[in-house]
Amino acid sequence: MSDRYAVIGHPIAHSKSPQIHSAFARATGQDLEYERLLAPLDGFGSTLASFAARGGRGCNVTLPFKEQAFAAASTHAGRAAVAGAVNTLIREGGRWHGDNTDGPGLVRDIVANLGVPMTGARLLMLGAGGAARGVLALLLAERPERLVVANRTLDRATALADAFASHGRLEARSPDRLEGAFDIVINATSAGLAGELPRVSGAMFAPQALAYDMMYGDSETAFLRWAREHGAARGADGLGMLIEQAAESFYLWRGVRPATAPVLALLRGGSEDNFPLAATGPPAGENCPPTP
Ligand code: NAP
Repeated sequence: MSDRYAVIGHPIAHSKSPQIHSAFARATGQDLEYERLLAPLDGFGSTLASFAARGGRGCNVTLPFKEQAFAAASTHAGRAAVAGAVNTLIREGGRWHGDNTDGPGLVRDIVANLGVPMTGARLLMLGAGGAARGVLALLLAERPERLVVANRTLDRATALADAFASHGRLEARSPDRLEGAFDIVINATSAGLAGELPRVSGAMFAPQALAYDMMYGDSETAFLRWAREHGAARGADGLGMLIEQAAESFYLWRGVRPATAPVLALLRGGSEDNFPLAATGPPAGENCPPTP
């Protein structure tokens, strides 16, 4: 029988993880099955337990269960302990070991795949939720010149700055009080899920700036469209991060690191929604982008 893996979330029907891990398994000759598991909002623990009882060897965990996955794990990798969230569970000796591969996935996509160095760069993170928390330590480890976290609810950004103080200097700001220009602007808000944009000054992109949206979709995201219209030189959505974090999970489970470029090409279906160069310059002094 094939080894069993799964992704657990709510909702889960949209998840591309089964497609990604099946492609990794084919490419590396690994014998495994990977399924989607919809857990009731109050039933993550029971879903995980029944998966373990069916012989589950490992799983990915997505919204809204990453903190519950942290609690369900008996042991944690250092990066999961720092994030306080787990997106990868590994069955070891009848217990779950928890890890978090979102940070390595994001850094690898930006630095290795997109070729944009973070060391010495000015970074802006929009959002202070679970996704931001999961990646901040990895971003600080790249030794950027500045790392600013801007969040609609300023207190949450301030709490992150305090929590990560031992990892490096993190500036907490209100999104409408940003100063200076940034080389990399990462949208880690969930505003796009409601068809909205984080409300920020449009004059924040340095020349050659990369706009990176953790969200992804079948067409250009609202944030990337807005960034292109406001002077970002390059844009990329979060599909690359999704595939890179999956590759790291696959490596933790199977000890084999799959190539990611062919899977990215497969999922893009030949289309290229990221933009390489700004079509237009930034409109001067425009604030608070309109909701699309
Ligand atoms: P979360 O914990 O619910 O946090 C949501 C964040 O978005 C908070 O900072 C919230 O601000 C902010 N926000 C929500 N609506 C907003 C609006 N209309 N305007 C401005 N800010 C708004 O969610 P999460 O887990 O961090 O996920 C964030 C995004 O990252 C999601 O779209 C998720 O799909 C994506 N993600 C992608 C990957 C990948 O592999 N590509 C991995 C992880 C996450 P407040 O604090 O003010 O509420």
